[in-house]
Amino acid sequence: MTAERTNVVIAGGGFAGLALALALRQSLGPAFGVVVADPAVARPNVDARASAIAAATRRMLETLGVWPAVAPAAQDILDMVITDSRLDDAVRPVFLTFAGEVAPGEPFAQMVENGVLLQALTARAKVDGIDLRATSVTGYEANPQSVRVTLGDGAVIEAGLLVAADGVRSRLRDLAGITVVGWEYGQSAIVTTVKHEREHHGCATEHFLPAGPFAILPLTENRASLVWVETTEEAKRIVALPDAGFHDELEKRFGLHLGTLEAVGPRQAYPLGLGVARAFVAERLALIGDAAHRVHPIAGQGLNLGLRDSAALAEAVADAARLGLDIGGPDVLERYQRWRRFDTMTMGIATDGLNRLFSNRSDVLRLVRDLGLGLVDRAPVLKRVFVREAAGLSGEVPKLLKGEAL
Ligand SMILES: Cc1cc2nc3c(=O)[nH]c(=O)nc-3n(C[C@H](O)[C@H](O)[C@H](O)COP(=O)(O)OP(=O)(O)OC[C@H]3O[C@@H](n4cnc5c(N)ncnc54)[C@H](O)[C@@H]3O)c2cc1C
Repeated sequence: MTAERTNVVIAGGGFAGLALALALRQSLGPAFGVVVADPAVARPNVDARASAIAAATRRMLETLGVWPAVAPAAQDILDMVITDSRLDDAVRPVFLTFAGEVAPGEPFAQMVENGVLLQALTARAKVDGIDLRATSVTGYEANPQSVRVTLGDGAVIEAGLLVAADGVRSRLRDLAGITVVGWEYGQSAIVTTVKHEREHHGCATEHFLPAGPFAILPLTENRASLVWVETTEEAKRIVALPDAGFHDELEKRFGLHLGTLEAVGPRQAYPLGLGVARAFVAERLALIGDAAHRVHPIAGQGLNLGLRDSAALAEAVADAARLGLDIGGPDVLERYQRWRRFDTMTMGIATDGLNRLFSNRSDVLRLVRDLGLGLVDRAPVLKRVFVREAAGLSGEVPKLLKGEAL
């Protein structure tokens, strides 16, 4: 079959894939061909989650022209309160508080529902003329000059670079023979949205309970997105409860500080694990987003990490294209891999450590972590470091995340 020709094929039109497509298209112009293939582009969104968008990620979305469509539905996180307690504790002592601005008037993070963000990215991709195909990538063959990509609808496309943005169970990663280092936690995160009586004033609360974190993340209109971690068995049981039983379990953990509660969204449970691909690149292939890494949602960083990958890869490709170099050659891929692997390992280890430190019933560990959190709470410099880290503004930050065009 004769192959179509383009510059980059992206497998996966999720957050990482679409952000990369926009960055490439906007920096290299309409003559630079980008195809995004994903069967989900033709399906309605079913994701009940909301994500904490770090300040750096928001700057990137602003630069890409996506943020105006998201902003009305974004809720600033103005405060973060962390408690360490058991389920039956009458009072949950507060150990750490952050009042989070990275710059005057700029919160360190904002909550956005995943459906809203995905819709805004897709709409912008259509406006920018990105070639969106409602089909999967089923295979590829790389050679020193190009890569031949086969789609589920039978099309064959020849490109300079193939990008795997196809999520946690990346088929392309498997086809490339790249293995993943990691493990399952035996935990799942129950996700739902609740409406509450009183105002949250932009405060996010994370209760570290023995089974795992219970995070209450503020949304617009007196609503909150919950990320509620339990053992996988217990999560299955809770999700299957009738409404009244679910409400009782919810109230036990949420408390009544925001008045009466009503679960208003669907309930979903996501199994949790840690995984980092042994390589982020192979011949003419780059892995981004969850295809490259899967981290515990304890710090709300997975999507942010994925957009950092998109920004770094777009910068490496745009620099090469402007110099007339091979955009899928080993130098470009190696630059991308060096840039992103260290940051990813650091975040993977940090979230794994946090989860291990908190998800247990040991009194000794409880004392250790409470001493640790208490010390951080009294050290303004350390707190500022944490806020900048959570905002995605530490380390070697790609241009787009600083709000600069490529
Ligand atoms: C409970 C929970 C809460 C979270 N909260 C946060 C948070 O607050 N902040 C944060 O930063 N992160 C958070 N995350 C992580 C975040 O949701 C993920 O990191 C993010 O969704 C990954 O985006 P992605 O684009 O890499 O992959 P995905 O969103 O999984 O997209 C992959 C796409 O690839 C497509 N696809 C699959 N196979 C193929 C194929 N063969 N060909 C073509 N397309 C294919 C799929 O249809 C899909 O659309 C959370 C995760 C969980 C589980």
